[in-house]
Amino acid sequence: MSASPPPDLAIVGGGLAGSLIALALRRRRPELSLRLIDGGDTLGGNHLWSFFDADVAREHRWLLEKLVVHAWPGYDIRFPAVTRTIRQPYYSVTSERLDEIVRATLAPHEIVTGARVLSVTPTTVALADGEKIEAGGVIDARGAGDVSTLQVGWQKFVGRELEIEGGHGLDRPIVMDATVAQHDGYRFVYSLPLSPTRVFVEDTYYSDGPTLNAAALSRRIEVYAQAMGWTIAAAGANDLREERGALPVVWNGDFEAYWRSSGAKVAKAGVRAGLFHPTTGYSLPDAVRLAIRIADASDLSGAALHDLTHDHAASAWADRRFYRMLDAMLFKAAGPDQRYKVLERFYTLRSGLIARFYAARSTPADKLRVLAGKPPVPIRRAIRALRGVK
Ligand SMILES: Cc1cc2nc3c(=O)[nH]c(=O)nc-3n(C[C@H](O)[C@H](O)[C@H](O)COP(=O)(O)OP(=O)(O)OC[C@H]3O[C@@H](n4cnc5c(N)ncnc54)[C@H](O)[C@@H]3O)c2cc1C
Repeated sequence: MSASPPPDLAIVGGGLAGSLIALALRRRRPELSLRLIDGGDTLGGNHLWSFFDADVAREHRWLLEKLVVHAWPGYDIRFPAVTRTIRQPYYSVTSERLDEIVRATLAPHEIVTGARVLSVTPTTVALADGEKIEAGGVIDARGAGDVSTLQVGWQKFVGRELEIEGGHGLDRPIVMDATVAQHDGYRFVYSLPLSPTRVFVEDTYYSDGPTLNAAALSRRIEVYAQAMGWTIAAAGANDLREERGALPVVWNGDFEAYWRSSGAKVAKAGVRAGLFHPTTGYSLPDAVRLAIRIADASDLSGAALHDLTHDHAASAWADRRFYRMLDAMLFKAAGPDQRYKVLERFYTLRSGLIARFYAARSTPADKLRVLAGKPPVPIRRAIRALRGVK
């Protein structure tokens, strides 16, 4: 590796954002030499990334064409007082497919896995084994920066892929089933039918803290399966996907402090750049947009990439204050056991508004509509919660 000439661009972190940048650049700028560096043995880790149809613009779909493994024409939501099918397509990408496609697209020497990165500058990457890679530009896409610079609640979950004897009977995802017993904040179960007998079931909580009792959540998934009338097949269970995570749900925070927390002058992408939906934690739509923006940029020097990624992320952050206000309502005004009512009310609104909400493209009229009427939280607490939200 040390014998090869310095690449035009080094992308540090071959997760979702870093890999999409590599794929976009290879398509739009095939003459550029790349280095995609990750600490794991495979690219993308162990994930199932989903997104809604309206999240990704038609003209950007080419970047996801080979990556989408599952597609459904709509999804369901279930609350104590509202059950609804929303006819908006929903898609999933797997990390296995991402790894396969990136490896088929980049030359072998352009992918460096199993390499822990210690530090980066706008034009250098220092590896734990002492090697230093120089590049025309460096993008840091190593996942979250210092979340303690933000004020956050948490979306935490355990997900398990289950094989169901005789089939589960679902033909579309249940994106939120909040008819389950509420614990530790707002709880819902998310189910993705991957085949007639395979379903991915995630037990999810909007909680005040990130601590996760994985064994308890895993058991609750089994209780949920039983309540759905599903019999989990024992054979092969150990080989199936299991994911867990705790994503920050930001209700206030200083973007510049977050940005500086992982190096002031270095270009960033993905969650490290603060590019995620404040309420859902989804980052795939932002990752697609930024990857294509980088691939269309004329100057990919370290300094220019810093300015491009900083300004792009700062502008997205400023545009999303509305979602942080809603998060503040959810976490600061609603009592933990009443949080589901905020979402239940939201899901009575028009499907177009819901789609724009998930895409973080709510119009002024959407915002008024979301806030109109009697809020499902105490009004005084709501006003107090919204004070000072940036
Ligand atoms: C379990 C889970 C499920 C999620 N589901 C969705 C979803 O359905 N839809 C959605 O839009 N979002 C989802 N998200 C949120 C978000 O999109 C993901 O976290 C996404 O992977 C973030 O992309 P990223 O590229 O910023 O970070 P990552 O994908 O986490 O990539 C960071 C990469 O950097 C590497 N790395 C870190 N440190 C080092 C180091 N020092 N040296 C070398 N390499 C390093 C890691 O190995 C990793 O591969 C999910 C998050 C989790 C945790």
